[in-house]
Amino acid sequence: MGWYDISQICLNGHVITDRAKSSPEFMKKYCTKCGEATITSCQHCDTPILGDYQVEGITAISLSKPKAPGFCHECGHPYPWTLRKINIAKELGDELDNLSKEDQDKFKSTLDDLVTDNPRTELAVIRFKKIMSKVGKDSYEAIKSILVDIVSETVRKSIFGN
Ligand SMILES: [Zn+2]
Ligand SMILES: [Zn+2]
Repeated sequence: MGWYDISQICLNGHVITDRAKSSPEFMKKYCTKCGEATITSCQHCDTPILGDYQVEGITAISLSKPKAPGFCHECGHPYPWTLRKINIAKELGDELDNLSKEDQDKFKSTLDDLVTDNPRTELAVIRFKKIMSKVGKDSYEAIKSILVDIVSETVRKSIFGN
């Protein structure tokens, strides 16, 4: 039987370690990438953030960089980095000058549905793509770099291609 280790992640979503329990020597109070404070549990319900899955006697060396989960598996609350990125993307929505006010609002309203998997996600994807076809390349790239880490893989593929 295996068990889940605990992840330590900074408030901006940089994963410090996904083995805070078994290798506490990797833990850091502050993020070395951005200087933000780090957390090991949900700020809403205090449940530890799931880390690497450990199996007794087997040391798995994972090649992929651990990804920060978007939502708490216990209470469903978005983690701070998810909220921050959604809010930044919404602010960016107001800067998209070549969009009408209506499209700016539509853009902002798709964001909450893009980061979760719910029945409205598909609709949000279609709306998002329509609006993206109207923004310039720089805005598109900026929006992509904010959203790429917080949307699900399916959404990422259908809105950004890969
Ligand atoms: Zn950081
Ligand atoms: Zn929670």
